[in-house]
Amino acid sequence: MTKQSPERHEFQAEVKQVLDIVVHSLYTDKEIFVRELISNASDATEKLRHNQVAEKDADIFDADLELEIQVSADEEAGEITIRDFGIGMTHEELIENLGTIAHSGSKAFLNALKEGGEQNDNLIGQFGVGFYSVFMVADSVKAYTRSWHKEGKCYCWSSDGSGAYEIEEVEGERRGTRIVISLKEEYKDFAKKTRLEEIIKKYSAFVQFPVMVEGEKLNTVGAIWLKGKSDISDEEYKEFYKFQAKAFDDPRFWLHFSADAPLSINALIFAPTENMEGFGFGRMEPGVNLYCRKVLIDSNPKNLLPDWLRFVRGVVDSADLPLNISRESMQDSTLIQKLNKVITKRFLKTLEDKAKKEPEIYNEFWDSFGLFLKEGVTTDFTHRDQLLKLLRYESSYTEAGKTTSLSDYLSRAPENQKEIYYLYGPSREAVESGPYIEAFKTRNIEVLYLYEPIDEFVMNHARAFEEKNFVSADSDDIDLDSVAPDTDTDKADSLEASDAEALCAFIKEKLGDEVSEVSASERLVGSPAMIVNADKMMTAQMRKMMKAMQQKAGGGDMGAEPKPKLQVNPRHPLVKNLASLRESNDELASLISQQLLDNARVVAGQLEDPSQMVQRNYKILEQLSAK
Ligand code: ADP
Ligand code: MG
Repeated sequence: MTKQSPERHEFQAEVKQVLDIVVHSLYTDKEIFVRELISNASDATEKLRHNQVAEKDADIFDADLELEIQVSADEEAGEITIRDFGIGMTHEELIENLGTIAHSGSKAFLNALKEGGEQNDNLIGQFGVGFYSVFMVADSVKAYTRSWHKEGKCYCWSSDGSGAYEIEEVEGERRGTRIVISLKEEYKDFAKKTRLEEIIKKYSAFVQFPVMVEGEKLNTVGAIWLKGKSDISDEEYKEFYKFQAKAFDDPRFWLHFSADAPLSINALIFAPTENMEGFGFGRMEPGVNLYCRKVLIDSNPKNLLPDWLRFVRGVVDSADLPLNISRESMQDSTLIQKLNKVITKRFLKTLEDKAKKEPEIYNEFWDSFGLFLKEGVTTDFTHRDQLLKLLRYESSYTEAGKTTSLSDYLSRAPENQKEIYYLYGPSREAVESGPYIEAFKTRNIEVLYLYEPIDEFVMNHARAFEEKNFVSADSDDIDLDSVAPDTDTDKADSLEASDAEALCAFIKEKLGDEVSEVSASERLVGSPAMIVNADKMMTAQMRKMMKAMQQKAGGGDMGAEPKPKLQVNPRHPLVKNLASLRESNDELASLISQQLLDNARVVAGQLEDPSQMVQRNYKILEQLSAK
């Protein structure tokens, strides 16, 4: 048989880009290349183990090999070898996996690079950049590999990390992959046995296969999720989290439990400290690994947890899972649904307990991950009631920056208060400066302050908490006097009912179709007027957002916008003056009526074009200054 000469391939452009950054980076923790290569060896071995249970031994090449990872070094030569007996790679897989970027680590790195901002060196630490990180320290790298398929050949992939790599057919490799790293002169230190052992202990303690250095096993921790809680230190939990989630923060807290009924589960679930979606890294992928008796079945199973729990990390191990099930059919299996139910319930219970027993920790969690829980309220009907208990909002009762739960809100409400009041605005100042809060404040009725657009959807989807409806404080028919009478204001100082009625008719006539109704209101205190929302279920703000969303989606029509109602304050001097002015100066009274409406619109955040109002304002000032 004539030996074929090596074939030369160019790296894909994106790979060149990554390599260029990696090779020239000043990143100091160059030792992470060991972590990356051992984690690849472990991934490949996991896949082999999965095939072993799913296929017949007879179909696997070298079926009797020990599943361990072997590391050796030659200090003299400045060489390190990392060897696994995992699935190996075929010719196509070599090109696909080591010549292009189709895989997770480097892809995330490239995306983050495109988003810009962060220093490249930081990003390397954050994403690891996988296999290519080896070129930070290597002059040249050879990957000898033999795929697990019965029929197949052995190959040697080699590159110096510049623009190209070579693939050559070789003889006599066992199943798996052997990576031989020839270190650059200045990094030969990594080939010292003590140094290498130190790095492996630091980064690879939780690898699920023995990592052997010259016959000695270095990792001893194993599957910590199967151990008892008392056998694991907090430090070990934290390290495991970082290892398993490839995370750089500490976990905020974790939930470790096992159950036998209704199904056998060992689960270790972590809530991270940092919300990576909040940092603009795009939508997170689910990150809870699914195992069956220590064998990895799926590293990001889609339906194992509800979508809004995509921020948690960890491991779920169930002995009830059939090992040979295909990933596709598993995603929809009733077993997965059952696991989903049990774990979600336990996690929510943990949050509830935290909120009760360690409110500071819960509140910090809420600040980072509250949005996910809100998303849950709007999308996950099954867990809505439990989620509602976990919501936290500022209110007219709390100090700025402090929040209340809905249960605490209700515990303070007068017995005959039938509704839960809220008001949306971009900030505490904005919410409090409007006319809507006045009446609630003077009557000591608490109002929740909502600062994020999704909050209105939350109220809208949930509709009620403990049978009390959520009602926006700018709604039309709120009867506050039936809840708590207004004690502070002097009704005697008000316009006569008949005068007020006549004034309202006058204003309505002047405003025409711009409002659906004008009425006198007992709800106003210091402000002369406000507009209220006739649609109890949808605030004007929300309507605006839905409209924008529909326009973006290129269709749909929300129908005609309902006209607002204008309420005037019969106790306010301006309104009282207007009642007599309309008889003496119709023109000025008309201008002021229109100005009242526009001012109310401004306060409600609903005035779209201020130019008319400014013109009118000048006219009013002109008339007043002529006197
Ligand atoms: P990632 O591990 O995030 O997918 P890497 O850059 O570390 O990215 O590795 C790229 C791909 O190369 C892997 O997804 C895998 O398919 C393949 N690979 C790397 N090392 C090995 C190995 N030891 N055995 C088999 N395949 C490997
Ligand atoms: Mg990798």
